Amino acid sequence: MTSHLLPAYARADLAFERGEGAWLVATDGERYLDFTSGVAVNALGHAHPHVVQAVQAQVAKLLHVSNLFRIPEGERLAERLCEVSFADTVFFANSGAEALEATIKMVRKYQSASGNPDRYRIITFEGAFHGRTLATLAAGGQKKNLEGFGPVMDGFDQVPAADIEAVKRAIGPQTAGILIEPIMGEGGVRTISQAFLKGLRELCDKHGLLLAFDEVQTGIGRTGELFGYQRTGVTPDVMALAKALGGGFPIGACLATTEAAKGMTAGTHGSTFGGNPLAMAAGNAVLDVVLAPGFLDRVRRTSIFLKQRLAEIKDRHASLIEEVRGEGLLIGLKVTIPYGEFVDALRAEKLLTVAAGDNVVRLLPPLIVTEAEIADAIERLDRACTALENRPPKQGAAG
Ligand SMILES: *Cc1c(COP(=O)(O)O)cnc(C)c1O
Repeated sequence: MTSHLLPAYARADLAFERGEGAWLVATDGERYLDFTSGVAVNALGHAHPHVVQAVQAQVAKLLHVSNLFRIPEGERLAERLCEVSFADTVFFANSGAEALEATIKMVRKYQSASGNPDRYRIITFEGAFHGRTLATLAAGGQKKNLEGFGPVMDGFDQVPAADIEAVKRAIGPQTAGILIEPIMGEGGVRTISQAFLKGLRELCDKHGLLLAFDEVQTGIGRTGELFGYQRTGVTPDVMALAKALGGGFPIGACLATTEAAKGMTAGTHGSTFGGNPLAMAAGNAVLDVVLAPGFLDRVRRTSIFLKQRLAEIKDRHASLIEEVRGEGLLIGLKVTIPYGEFVDALRAEKLLTVAAGDNVVRLLPPLIVTEAEIADAIERLDRACTALENRPPKQGAAG
């Protein structure tokens, strides 16, 4: 079948007609247990009644007015985000990469507004992922993503993710800040240690740098806390959010302290669609649910249940699963066979998962997943592993 879509994605030959909570129903009627959540986006699962109701009501009132005017729904969402985080101020965008673009610009502008216009460089980390725009690709520094797209944007210095001495060496007179994901999602669900993050905070304070966290994947309950930084005891100055914030509707956000944002005055940044009433209605609906008493406690309990079951599966299939990693419901299985084969075997059992770097398969169930659904997923995982163990050896494969 020919497609007129740019072939930029390696898609599975599978399409869905509708979703219900943690389930997706394919166009052929088959039901799949969705442990992708649209890559950590559908935190409340599919067709959550509160989100459906809020978005439907807003669609009928106003979709878009632009940032020429005040947007009360956005003022409310920003106020709520600031109330539950370190931040004082929020810029709304439409995606993770845009949230990071705002973050990068803010870090640079802060130094310029502090009388240090030469300080524009940002320290980032090997294995990071910050998006697919030219600046965020440069920040992420992945060779395979940068290849063929011309000169790499200047201003990022990459160092290994656990090496505080390397960070110290990388700090120079032009350094403006440090940008890191508290858990590297795309990079293979690699948790950055509390001690390392604390070290970064101290270096930032000592050298007058801003500390920016990319919480596009870890934010909005994914780790069992509302924000990943709350698990670490380390508070950033700037934080990028996106993925789960809209529950499936595209939103990005850059949160910051008043001090960090002091350079971002009227006219310094903008977005036509950013913070439109529909996106803001979706974001407020997601917060209504995630901030309700007991919601995050339940995510943490579910996480413990999932991790215990996964430890058993790892023991039973040690030749396939090397490690279970991650926090909350951001879980990675480091597998011994090529990750694509593992994801395919799970899909054959109607369990949907996402590959990540470092040969890791990510399990990203919606935060509303039940223990019964997790038990179901574990059975599917068990069957997929057994099928992989029993498959005939490949032609020409060694051993
Ligand atoms: C997904 C992701 C991004 C990019 O988000 P887009 O919405 O695809 O632009 C940036 N940072 C992290 C940590 C992500 O997981």
